Amino acid sequence: MQKITIAIDGYSSTGKSTVAKQLAKHLGYVYVDTGAMYRAVTYYAMTHNLIDDTHFDVVGLVSKLNEVVVSFKFNPIAGFAEVYLNGQNIEKEVRTLEVSSQVSKVAAIPEVRYQLVKQQQQMGKDKGVVMDGRDIGTVVFPYAKLKIFMTASPEKRATRRFDELIGRGDDVTYEDVLRNVQERDYIDSHREDSPLRKADDSVLIDNTGLTQEEQFKLILLLVERAFEDLE
Ligand code: C5P
Repeated sequence: MQKITIAIDGYSSTGKSTVAKQLAKHLGYVYVDTGAMYRAVTYYAMTHNLIDDTHFDVVGLVSKLNEVVVSFKFNPIAGFAEVYLNGQNIEKEVRTLEVSSQVSKVAAIPEVRYQLVKQQQQMGKDKGVVMDGRDIGTVVFPYAKLKIFMTASPEKRATRRFDELIGRGDDVTYEDVLRNVQERDYIDSHREDSPLRKADDSVLIDNTGLTQEEQFKLILLLVERAFEDLE
């Protein structure tokens, strides 16, 4: 059976990665979480004192990018590929609110995007991939067979992310999470290089009022239609 490329973009905490993982498993495709790659570079910058709330040494980070090797390795227990930085598993470290607070600044740097986009295109070159992010349907795979753009109300998204962080035992407030979600959306949508926007040929899904099951059913219909279109 012919394989296709599926691009899932959208605002922060819309449940993109949950549905992308589920879909990849269902189809036997590779799942690539591109947000984790930007988070990994941000984690590198934070642990090398190149960025914090008050300063960002862009030149320093760009000059060190050749030392930043981001990779994924499938964890059979977790059921998905975890992110590694220079061979070290940083899956848990990149999901903190601290990393979320810096990542959009790092992701706005063209040199960072250039390096990661090249890697993402390489990872998806044989199709059979579900990739989620902010610029997959517009920049990374503009010819993806199926493009989905996900949104939901900021409050719903913040609640989701808050529950996730509290569930992991992180000490965060709902207000801080909501502020972070809104801040990231603003920076991601307003940056000059590859801003977050819906591709003209992507399908918009607002999942504010949808259960995960309803959303998945809807996405399976879209996948079916994309396959029919190949015939
Ligand atoms: O998807 P996730 O919320 O983990 O992404 C973290 C951040 O990485 C986003 O807020 C955005 O700044 C950046 N990102 C991006 N392009 C992508 C994926 C993520 O700019 N394709």
